Amino acid sequence: AKENGRNNYQFFSEELNVYHKNRLSIENDLRSAILNDELVIYYQPQFNAELNEIIGFEALLRWEHPIKGLLSPDQFINIAEASGLIVPIGAWVLEQACKQAYEWSQRGTKPYRMAVNLSALQFNHKNLSEQVLHALEVSGLNPSLLELEITESAIIQNINETLALLVSLKGLGINLAIDDFGTGYSSLSYLKNFPIDTLKVDKSFIDEIVTNKKDAAIAQTILQLADNLGLLSVAEGVETKEQVAGLTEMGCTQFQGFYFSKPLPVELVDMLID
Ligand code: C2E
Ligand code: CA
Ligand code: CA
Ligand code: CA
Repeated sequence: AKENGRNNYQFFSEELNVYHKNRLSIENDLRSAILNDELVIYYQPQFNAELNEIIGFEALLRWEHPIKGLLSPDQFINIAEASGLIVPIGAWVLEQACKQAYEWSQRGTKPYRMAVNLSALQFNHKNLSEQVLHALEVSGLNPSLLELEITESAIIQNINETLALLVSLKGLGINLAIDDFGTGYSSLSYLKNFPIDTLKVDKSFIDEIVTNKKDAAIAQTILQLADNLGLLSVAEGVETKEQVAGLTEMGCTQFQGFYFSKPLPVELVDMLID
């Protein structure tokens, strides 16, 4: 048993070693990714199902790694976060997405909203308001078309300063959404005090909404809560028409998910909204 234990330990430590090496190599590559133009943004349409039209997009980061190919955020966002690289990367995403939204707002028949994800580290970084203001200024985007998506965990990290920060962000004329609503440390009191515009109903409640009564009850409660508080809501990760039907019955009008569209590269969105 002893020997077994040792073997296990060795095996484990080798695994760990590989993990660390891989992690370090990703971190190093990520440092040069911005400079080398390897980061790209995909845009996932958000739909109004009643009107059957696109109302906006969520900017979703991708990394065209020279060797590993197209990487999704799951494969590098933790490392970006742990190394602090998410701050300059996030600033880049914000600026790019605003410029893209401005371009689309200039040509479409109607303006599209642009939602941009903020990591906890970005949210708690002292220059966030300046970063947002800068992105708005260099892009020329109407602030009312920008929505920042913040998670509950980012908000509670520094609860004392959060209210002032959210108020100053709102002061720029932008919108604020709670991402993955209901999965974090939800506290209803912050919905009372914080200037939030939108709740995004997390995919985990949508997945089995048709078959699981509890999920259906939670989704319905979030949608009603948003409505009663005068907030907008978006159902995330909608994949089937049965889910759309169920959510529509609950009063949901705004949808995002593969049933409507996957995240798309700029060129495809260009064709879609022409
Ligand atoms: P999220 O903000 O919750 O974004 C939604 C994720 O769900 C996206 O994954 C999207 O592609 C995926 N999705 C949308 N509809 C469906 C669907 O119907 N079915 C399924 N299976 N998936 C769907 P993605 O693009 O891989 O992004 C994962 C996460 O990475 C995001 O989750 C967000 O937390 C983070 N992320 C993405 N871009 C950024 C960024 O620019 N900055 C920061 N800080 N985080 C980002
Ligand atoms: Ca999001
Ligand atoms: Ca989400
Ligand atoms: Ca999520």
